[in-house]
Amino acid sequence: MPDDFILKIENLNKSFGGVKATSNVNYKMKSGELSAIIGPNGAGKSTFFNLLTGFHRVDSGSVFYKGRDITNWHPHSIARLGIARAFQVSNIYHTLTAYENIRQAILTQQKKTLNFFTPARKLAERETMELLDTIGLHEQAHVTAGNLSQGDKKRLELALALGCRPDLLFLDEPTAGMSAEETHDTMMLVKKLNMELGLTILFTEHDMSVVFGYAQRLTVLHLGAIISEGTPAEVRADENVQKVYLGVEP
Ligand code: ADP
Ligand code: MG
Repeated sequence: MPDDFILKIENLNKSFGGVKATSNVNYKMKSGELSAIIGPNGAGKSTFFNLLTGFHRVDSGSVFYKGRDITNWHPHSIARLGIARAFQVSNIYHTLTAYENIRQAILTQQKKTLNFFTPARKLAERETMELLDTIGLHEQAHVTAGNLSQGDKKRLELALALGCRPDLLFLDEPTAGMSAEETHDTMMLVKKLNMELGLTILFTEHDMSVVFGYAQRLTVLHLGAIISEGTPAEVRADENVQKVYLGVEP
C-alpha cells in the first residue's frame, strides 16, 4: 500500500548470541527529514544501520523503502535503489587524491571503467568537480586523501556516498573523533545537503549535545530498543533518557 514514508521499519529484531542488538524496533521517516538516532556506545545504532542496508540479516521484522519490502536484500541492490551510507570506518583510498576518490565513486556508480578508448582525464570530470564544490573540498581537490584533515576526510567520505546519487543517506557517527569546530562544520554540511539537495538523512550520534540544532527529530536507542522519540527538546526533558545518559537503568 503506497504511503508517503520513504522508510518504514516494522518490528525489527536482531540478536548476536545472547545480546539483543535490535529489539522490536518500529521506525518511520518522511521524505526530506533530517533526523538522528542517539544512544550510548553499544546501544545498537550501527547494527540498526547494518540491518537497513543489508550488511546484516534481520532475525525478524521488515524494512520498507518507498513502500517496497527490501528486507534482507543484498547491500548492492539496496544501494542501487538510492540508499547510501557513510561508514563509521572510512572507505577512502588514502593514496588517491580527493578528486580521484570521488571520480572513482562516480564511475563505479555509472559502471564505467577507464579503458583505452576513453580519455581518462575527462571521464566524469564535471560531476566530480560539482561534488567537490557541493562538499566544499574544491581547494583540496588534488591533495592526497591521507593528508587531509580529519574534518576534510569526513567531507570526502560524504562526497563518496553522494557519488551514488542517493535519495536516502545514513551517516553513522559522522562527527566521531572531531573537534568542536569540525563537528559544527560537518553538521552544517549535513544540514545543507538536507536543505539544498532535498536529501533525506538519518544519522547516529552517541553525544547528545551534538544533535541539538541539527536534527528535527530524535530517537533514543538503549539496549537495542527505542526508549524515547520526539523533538530535541522533548527528548532532552525525558527522565528515562537522562537516566540512560547518566548510566542509570531506566
Ligand atoms: P552502537 O553502534 O550503538 O555503539 P552496535 O550496534 O555496534 O552499537 O552494538 C550493539 C550491540 O551488539 C553491542 O552489544 C555489540 O557488542 C553487539 N554487536 C554488534 N555487532 C556485533 C557482531 N557483529 N557480533 C557480535 N556482537 C555484535
Ligand atoms: Mg556504532
